[in-house]
Amino acid sequence: MTKVNEFFSANYAEAREKFLAAATAAGASLAAIENPNTGPDGGRLATDTAWLGPASASRLLVLNSATHGVEGFCGSGAQVGLLRGGDLDKLPADTAVLLVHAINPFGFAHLRRVNEDNVDINRNFIDHDTPHPANEPYDSVHALLVPADWDGPARAAADRGIDDYIAARGEFTFQAAVSGGQYGHADGLFYGGRAPVWSNRVLRRIIDSQAGGRAQVGFIDFHTGLGPRGYGEPIFVGQPDSADHRRARDWYGDQLTSPEVGNSTSAEVQGTLANAFTATLPAGTAFTGIALEYGTVPVLDVLNALRADNWLYLHGDTASPLGRDIKAQIRAAFYGDDDAWKADVFARAREIVAKGLTGLANG
Ligand SMILES: [Zn+2]
Repeated sequence: MTKVNEFFSANYAEAREKFLAAATAAGASLAAIENPNTGPDGGRLATDTAWLGPASASRLLVLNSATHGVEGFCGSGAQVGLLRGGDLDKLPADTAVLLVHAINPFGFAHLRRVNEDNVDINRNFIDHDTPHPANEPYDSVHALLVPADWDGPARAAADRGIDDYIAARGEFTFQAAVSGGQYGHADGLFYGGRAPVWSNRVLRRIIDSQAGGRAQVGFIDFHTGLGPRGYGEPIFVGQPDSADHRRARDWYGDQLTSPEVGNSTSAEVQGTLANAFTATLPAGTAFTGIALEYGTVPVLDVLNALRADNWLYLHGDTASPLGRDIKAQIRAAFYGDDDAWKADVFARAREIVAKGLTGLANG
């Protein structure tokens, strides 16, 4: 009997090795797209894909990990578990599964939520040929998020400013201001970039070459950092009250949330990976996309870890004692590295993926 914690890894290189071994053992067709950067240890980085089921399937479920780099410990563990647990061995008729492992391999390897360009790739899928959206709430907190020092007077003053902001407007308003996505501060948090980044181009290429021409495409994007520890919240990503939203509710039931409806732990965000599908798939494809968001630690601890990591790459030294503390802090903010959390993650992943496959089969 395989233990669930063996599906999960201690670093990107181990995760990639486990994924490739599990996918090979499951008989998947594999492809790799090399990222031009290297890991902190000089190791190679790639996004890997594994296809299970008939090449001609008209129904496809896409399971994606590491959109937010360091969150890949969760999604990779779930993917490896689904492959090794037999969940994908007997697919419904005319159905295939495409596993995309580490769409942001740089962030995964370097324990960053962002990519090699300090870009949040889940804010990067907007139309970069039109003027970039303004985000005045983010502008008003940017200086508080990015202090000049992390253990001196600038940080202390910034923390007081954040406390005052939350006291006046509430924690969720602060979270929304920080996390909605911004396009004006390249050195800031939740920066969506000014052009399609590597992961964006790679994902659209994968969709174009492997998902195009299907009648139905389901998408589950694994995330961590919001909500009660260990709980996996299915979040609809798309237009509220659309046909896609109704279909997603049919598949996933009443637990499905929507930031636009106001019942999600996530604030409204723009430029998510779902846009890559809707922009790339031929018109008429029925697309049903969700994020599966697992809780880790309280949201203010998550945001503080992101502030710390942002400061580290702007002003600090990852090899210093403070740098090592910050890397441990951000890892813990996005990876609930204990047996109970991993068991919760895997059990929920199985349940949600089974619902996705059933939903595809029922149309
Ligand atoms: Zn995420």
